[in-house]
Amino acid sequence: MRIGMHMSVSRGFEKNLRRLTDFGCQAVQIFAGNPTGWRMGKTDRAAIARRVKLLQELSVFPLVIHSAYLINLASSSPETYQRSVELLALTMERAALYRSPYVVLHTGNHGGQGVERGLQKVTDTISRELERWPAGVELLLENTAGSGTALGSRLEELAAVVNNFPRNRVGVCLDTAHAWAAGYALDSPHGLEETLGQFDRLIGLDRLRALHVNDSKVACGSKVDRHQHLGKGSIGLRSFEALLAYSWPEEMPVILETPEMGSEWDHHNLTTLLSLVDKDFSL
Ligand SMILES: [Zn+2]
Ligand SMILES: [Zn+2]
Repeated sequence: MRIGMHMSVSRGFEKNLRRLTDFGCQAVQIFAGNPTGWRMGKTDRAAIARRVKLLQELSVFPLVIHSAYLINLASSSPETYQRSVELLALTMERAALYRSPYVVLHTGNHGGQGVERGLQKVTDTISRELERWPAGVELLLENTAGSGTALGSRLEELAAVVNNFPRNRVGVCLDTAHAWAAGYALDSPHGLEETLGQFDRLIGLDRLRALHVNDSKVACGSKVDRHQHLGKGSIGLRSFEALLAYSWPEEMPVILETPEMGSEWDHHNLTTLLSLVDKDFSL
């Protein structure tokens, strides 16, 4: 495992990265562009190359790219759909420039078309687009909390998309706060085992490529996406300890997306997470 955190790039990539590595951060996630807009921003290859070099110098890997929230590969609006396809392709290219192995994407919203049609649309889109994307970048579908018409809150729904594609091209990023909100009882050893067992049967644990470790402000099954600091939420520290005790691959990114990024809470969350894992894994 590589313990990491989502990092804002807005007030200086280098400054933020050095601050997190001072806390023991080993991996990092960033947005490639504006997370809530359609514009990626121009590609500054020299600036990206400098960032790649800094990541290498500080031994921070892997770098995970989180795609923009507006992307919806299941959209029934032709305009939104087309913009989604284009922005995702740009994000995949941007990830390749960053030498990032993973782009995380929320599975989408069916918007009233129904779960089955929505999932089919996502699958058809990935099938068509896959050839266009850089081969070294794997698309990771992230499970959702299941609010509104969100797709991908159930492992069965992720399986219906992911299992159509080759390993190393499409995988899964599991967010603990989203899974909890969707009704997976990760707060007990039994619930955790049950959830990961289901994941293995339906998708295969070898396709679980990244974890988002967030505690939750809400109750299990509430279908609301509210992240909380580790140990301050309804999932609880013991559950994260149990989750991290599994024999995960050495280079799997375990990323915090806890609130108030850039504050002292980053230190709290990172050191808490590092203290939960075997000392061999910490810096
Ligand atoms: Zn996400
Ligand atoms: Zn997440």
